[in-house]
Amino acid sequence: MKVLANDGISKSGIDQLEKNGFRVITNKVEQGDLVNYINNEQIEVILVRSATQVRKDIIDNCPSIKIIGRGGVGMDNIDVDYAKNKGLLVINTPAASSQSVAELVMAHLFSISRFVYDSNRKMPHDGHEDFKTLKKKYAKGAELRGKTIGIIGFGRIGQFTAKYALGAGMNVIAYDPFINDVDLTIEIANKEFTINIATVSLDKLLSDSDYISLHVPMPKDGQAVLGQNEFNKMKDGVRIVNAARGGVINEDDLISAIDNNKVAAAALDVFVGEPSPRKDLLSHEKIALTPHIGAATNEAQDRIGTELADKIIEFFNK
Ligand code: NAD
Repeated sequence: MKVLANDGISKSGIDQLEKNGFRVITNKVEQGDLVNYINNEQIEVILVRSATQVRKDIIDNCPSIKIIGRGGVGMDNIDVDYAKNKGLLVINTPAASSQSVAELVMAHLFSISRFVYDSNRKMPHDGHEDFKTLKKKYAKGAELRGKTIGIIGFGRIGQFTAKYALGAGMNVIAYDPFINDVDLTIEIANKEFTINIATVSLDKLLSDSDYISLHVPMPKDGQAVLGQNEFNKMKDGVRIVNAARGGVINEDDLISAIDNNKVAAAALDVFVGEPSPRKDLLSHEKIALTPHIGAATNEAQDRIGTELADKIIEFFNK
């Protein structure tokens, strides 16, 4: 049986599939050549990340396909309902990367509190001549301990982020219209601590938070979760991280809120118009940036690969 992992798969995933008799092909086939390739090779499982699209053309014209797998969460690149209606199994790995995304959020929280990202931009260029100027420029840092972080969207990643934030001594509040409260179990030095966090209203979160981190899906109506109206309700000097989806913050309103000193700094892992984010965001002195790498750790990729492999093996062993 042949598996085409068109956007790649971890070695652990390949090993597991091969041990169970599958042949795993990791050649990248161009989108326009996929139908022919799948038919010629009689591929039974196509695995993608976010790059390859699996649309009706493939689903209709490739009768050998039995499983479509997405390594990761969002399935915007797959016609999921259409595939399911045609009797295909569609699988993804929603939990595999939550810890990695939460760790990136923490990295950004520390970074924007101490200007680490901007210092790293300026030191190579100006550090030799202007050390003292830069020392002064980055002098007014903030500690995380004792500050309040408001987490918008209290699902998998929101809860992982909450655990790290609690570990860093932050006060955690959360808003999620579908969750009343959550028992978070944190393991420290082989001891377990359970902390109950009850969600609050969005308005309370906006008014009480020193830091805000977003962990929501893109709303179906396409409206940003944070726009001018929400920025107006925030504390002056709030710091914001978005590692969810580009459109959940209105980027125009974010830039205005930073330029008006409402927002002290922001960190973005996701952007409207990826893979070509707007340049004024990328060059803004008060915005820390990563190119959508929340899930991009070796550990998460291993978990994604083995989770997909397990689901494929289980399907064919039934
Ligand atoms: P999840 O489904 O476990 O949690 C999302 C939570 O958001 C749910 O509890 C839901 O009730 C809540 N929610 C929905 N609409 C809301 C709203 N308007 N306001 C407040 N809460 C709302 O999802 P997850 O796995 O935690 O993923 C969260 C986000 O992170 C998604 O947008 C996902 O695409 C993104 N993500 C990013 C990366 C990355 O590389 N940066 C990687 C994985 C996931």
